Amino acid sequence: MMNYSALKSWHKSHKVAALKGRYITINDIQPLLDELPTLFTVEVLGYSVENRPISKITFGTGPITVLGWSQMHGNESTTTKALFDIFKWFETNSATDAANNLLNACTFIMVPMLNPDGAAAYTRVNANQIDLNRDAQDLTQPESIILRDLYTNLKPDYCLNLHGQRTIFGVGDPAKSAIISFLSPSQDELRTVTQSRKIGMALIADMNEMLQEFIPNCVGRYDDGFNINCVGDTLQHKNIPTVLFEAGHYPEDYDREETRSYMFLSLIRIFESIILLKSKKNASSNPYFTIPENKKCFFDYLIRSIELPGFGVVDMAIQYEEKLENGVLNFIPKIHQIGDLKEFKGHLEIDFDGKSPLNKEDFDWKEGVIIEEIQTNSGLPTTFSLKRNNLL
Ligand SMILES: [Zn+2]
Repeated sequence: MMNYSALKSWHKSHKVAALKGRYITINDIQPLLDELPTLFTVEVLGYSVENRPISKITFGTGPITVLGWSQMHGNESTTTKALFDIFKWFETNSATDAANNLLNACTFIMVPMLNPDGAAAYTRVNANQIDLNRDAQDLTQPESIILRDLYTNLKPDYCLNLHGQRTIFGVGDPAKSAIISFLSPSQDELRTVTQSRKIGMALIADMNEMLQEFIPNCVGRYDDGFNINCVGDTLQHKNIPTVLFEAGHYPEDYDREETRSYMFLSLIRIFESIILLKSKKNASSNPYFTIPENKKCFFDYLIRSIELPGFGVVDMAIQYEEKLENGVLNFIPKIHQIGDLKEFKGHLEIDFDGKSPLNKEDFDWKEGVIIEEIQTNSGLPTTFSLKRNNLL
């Protein structure tokens, strides 16, 4: 097993500096693809609705085929950043046993931006407003067909479906932020733990064990309701062990640079596990089921016990709307909910202790309204700015 603390340090000082923040487009990754050394083969698989290229990167010469893709949802860029860090790690370490063991055992095929139009527009959907992760059966979109053709021709041994999740997810009790979440998707309505699912579960359990050393109690497991229109469920249905990765929110890290490092570690770990699995007869699903399930229980901000005109003393949740404006991604704070929110948590919480906010007497306190700062009343520290503009 590799030394994951050393890998974490390596990542901190060596991650691909050209990729940072949340808004990652083909213009960011194309120059990096053009510069990849001969260890990697880059090939354009086809084009998106708006004619942007979709490329695959192949490396390694081993018999086990591992297929991965990221940014199927255009605004989920963290896993794309982690994939480029993976390429750099293999490049920098190509003379080491650690890298060569993986390269000799596996052939990796990675598609680092399946939905380049959605990436450009910073949307989940593609240019035709279709969620590609609900198009696995109908195959109405060129991007869906590109992926289908790829896995049909390749017949991969493993599939890695790389996504990102919103800040609303937590795990455990008391809940902590779900920094990384996983799923071994179902392959039938009964959610049968088939051999293929079981392998996915064993791989996830290994990654979870590694991550607990870094982010204890911050790893979640997704609901396994079956939906054949999802790509992961379709692949699992074909008995290809498939793992869904979800990059989530690390407190105060809206650029997801810290999460990126855990995604990098998880990818290295699953590669190691895939090799080790060969010598294991029986993959166990038990440790997987000890990972707590994701629940929707977080807001970006939770203002507790605040007295608002017309409401009395209530809780107020504030959630960022991620909005692309003139090529810049802004995080716009909006009132999301006003009421009794005892069951919820905030990534940041401010307790007003029954007092009312200053300087907002004629403010329109209602859901959906932009609120850029809150000035606290006597006894509380200061003015809280909720603005988070001009992220990287
Ligand atoms: Zn997604």
